[in-house]
Amino acid sequence: MKSPIIAIVIPCYNEEQALPISADKLLSVLDQMVSMGLASSESYILCCNDGSKDKTWETISQLHAKDNRIKGISLTHNRGHQYVLLAGLMSVKDHCDAAISIDADLQDDPEAMIEMVKQFNQGKEIVYGVRSSRATDTWFKRTTAHGFYSLQKKMGFETIYDHADYRLMSARAIDFLGQYGESNLFLRGIIPQIGLETAIVTYERKERVAGESKYPLKKMLSFSINGITSFSAKPMRWIFMVGLILLVVDLIVAIYVLISYFEHVTTSGWPSLMLSIWFLGSLILMSIGIVGEYIGRIFTEVKHRPRYFIDKTLWD
Ligand code: UDP
Ligand code: MG
Repeated sequence: MKSPIIAIVIPCYNEEQALPISADKLLSVLDQMVSMGLASSESYILCCNDGSKDKTWETISQLHAKDNRIKGISLTHNRGHQYVLLAGLMSVKDHCDAAISIDADLQDDPEAMIEMVKQFNQGKEIVYGVRSSRATDTWFKRTTAHGFYSLQKKMGFETIYDHADYRLMSARAIDFLGQYGESNLFLRGIIPQIGLETAIVTYERKERVAGESKYPLKKMLSFSINGITSFSAKPMRWIFMVGLILLVVDLIVAIYVLISYFEHVTTSGWPSLMLSIWFLGSLILMSIGIVGEYIGRIFTEVKHRPRYFIDKTLWD
């Protein structure tokens, strides 16, 4: 049997510092897999520039000039990790047998790829990389991430615990992924829906090799909300927030009403009326907010916007 062509897909946003180090390391892992007879020598790396503001694209071009196993695509502007990853996977799907997506910062152990490819060669079509520990993540990141997993579980949709977007997918699985037409992408939610034979490979999560996180709290939050509603209907969410604030105000009002009641300075009927107005008001606003989240989703889905445009390609 011929060994498979493996494509490594890296989303890159402002990664000029990390990329040269990562590319080096990934090439050496590729070499290792080729020499072990696991992967074909035609295997390659695709760096996907997500509209970086620094010299990421220049760095990719230099790497490509040095070694043409490093290829590149560049989006017209910053679309976010999920979209640039999709762009990368769609670009490689007709030019490989399987693709592995990994972040540019090598926080996810590249050596785990060897086990992933072994699993692929044994017929697994989706292999998830799962972190065995999050020791190097901050307490905050760890807790919020775990909170998010349990929230997803409560919302009733399947994701893989402690799996980010480090995974191997067969060309066929990527082709199936391409048939999902939604514009609000949450790959970790979609991919388990594809089905096919899957496996899990565990590894230690490390520190970034260089540069800093491109996922500040703000991006993390919006990513999580997207993961649940697949859309951010901001004005609707504000309605929900106002409802929530009113609920707190409601408590203060309740204390005031009770004090007035026990001091006998109220007319009969006033306390119950006051309490219902505030409580129902906040409840109604929150409900409208929740309905709004779903309307917002319908709103973007019906627009069927193209999800990315590839600006430049290095492919020879
Ligand atoms: N990334 C991207 N577009 C963005 C933000 C991040 O392509 O808008 C890439 C980034 O270059 C990296 C990966 O997504 O390869 C994960 O980002 P990061 O390591 O900063 O996130 P963290 O590991 O801190 O959650
Ligand atoms: Mg990272």
